[in-house]
Amino acid sequence: MERGKFREYPFHPSARDFCKVYFKDLLSKTIYRMDVEEAVQNIIRSLKGEEIFRNPNPARRVRTFVITKIILAALNDRIITAKYANQERDLLERSLLEEDRRHIEEVAEILGLNVLSYSAGEFKIHFADFLKYSPRISGEKYSLFEQEIDRGFVFVKKDVLAKIMREAFVDKFKEDIDRISEMLSEDIIQPLIPYMEKILDLKSEIISQQDLGEVDLNALPPCIKNMLKTLQSGGNLTHFARFTLTAFLHTIGMSNEEILNLFSVSPDFNEKIAKYQVKHITGEISSKEYIPPKCLTLKSQGLCVNPDKLCDRINHPLSYYKIKKRGKRFGRKGKTVR
Ligand code: SF4
Repeated sequence: MERGKFREYPFHPSARDFCKVYFKDLLSKTIYRMDVEEAVQNIIRSLKGEEIFRNPNPARRVRTFVITKIILAALNDRIITAKYANQERDLLERSLLEEDRRHIEEVAEILGLNVLSYSAGEFKIHFADFLKYSPRISGEKYSLFEQEIDRGFVFVKKDVLAKIMREAFVDKFKEDIDRISEMLSEDIIQPLIPYMEKILDLKSEIISQQDLGEVDLNALPPCIKNMLKTLQSGGNLTHFARFTLTAFLHTIGMSNEEILNLFSVSPDFNEKIAKYQVKHITGEISSKEYIPPKCLTLKSQGLCVNPDKLCDRINHPLSYYKIKKRGKRFGRKGKTVR
């Protein structure tokens, strides 16, 4: 691959030639200070949900990318890593859409995907790779049922392949962070501490801006608690889980802004899309105000997690909430949080 392309694909194994310096020097020598600052700013941008800066100079872009990975590994925080990975993921997808076949095949191979170009704008991807990543992408277009399959390969258009590749990138990126995290020693982390504190402070600030209104957290059914826990720990929810959570929280009195605040820590949070979905589910821009699905439906979707004794007596998560809340009003243990 040409060196100029490392700006788009800084994770390319040959891009390491730009970084023939020790980790320690990269983080502590004055000549690399600008790269460190840029890496920190990019992590901050991603935490705020803003697009990261892709330096036009390929060598600086590669150095910044490497430094960013070291900082993320030192922080070892799932939410911060996921938020950054998703910004890189979106940039990668955009680059792939503009890319020629040869480079797409090369990048796919680096990402561990079995991809062959088939005809102009069309590719074949091994169905195991397709099946691994396509469930994360919402839209019928990405369902296996919509694809033509031939001898173990799925025919995909460039835009579908770009989405699969971006998801493979996210996995690879997170694996790299975990691997680097295990390698880091005290002397490498030391110069990073002021930057790490700044990033962690910002993360706490963003999370503390969430407000659960009058909702009684202790009365939430286990399935809903689990969805919230997944969000808070930086995990992604399926489309159906998001629908359920939004409809549930809306029905028990949470405002659209409060619901959006909760979703904002999700690694793949896209404010525009999330706003539209929340407004649609809550009836603000649709003719219907949706209610959350019954327990039976949640069970069939694998979303009934840790059911307790009360769950045996109800068939809807809203009944669980109402019974539990009423019980507490009449003096049982528990506290209402704002
Ligand atoms: S039984 Fe119903 S309320 Fe209880 S965890 Fe399962 S889906 Fe939720």
